[in-house]
Amino acid sequence: MPTSKVRTGIAALAAMGCLWACREVHMAKREAKETFKTDKEWKETLTPEQYHILRGKGTENAFTGQYYAFKGTGTYLCAACGHPLFSSQKKYDSGTGWPSFWEPLRETAVARAPDHSLGRERTEVLCPVCGGHLGHVFEDGPPPSGLRYCINSAALRFAVQ
Ligand code: FE
Repeated sequence: MPTSKVRTGIAALAAMGCLWACREVHMAKREAKETFKTDKEWKETLTPEQYHILRGKGTENAFTGQYYAFKGTGTYLCAACGHPLFSSQKKYDSGTGWPSFWEPLRETAVARAPDHSLGRERTEVLCPVCGGHLGHVFEDGPPPSGLRYCINSAALRFAVQ
């Protein structure tokens, strides 16, 4: 068999392997969202405020959360499932009264979805593992990303590095 055909075959197999791995991750995440916890279980395990925000897409009042002015060094996890979302290294004071980050821990650390509520076009930020609502991302952040991930304190749990 010519070398080029062997190479093409190997490349095709590698691509199939990648596709399969991606599908596995996607299926696992979908399953996690659907089977992570029932609504009744979320109500039992989250505080009323966490439930309102994470499961009901609510927003805490500005300047009331525990993390908007917090300057600890560490990682912010999803308050519902513990998935790592943001690093303190990418947190900044936006002056809005909500914890603000210019970038997530990794591009895939958060999920994004269009939000047409309140008569505005916004991008919702969600936990990619449990599907919990975290906040929104806006295009008025600082460099280098120019993005502002505006996140509810109640959706976060801080962990020291
Ligand atoms: Fe989560």
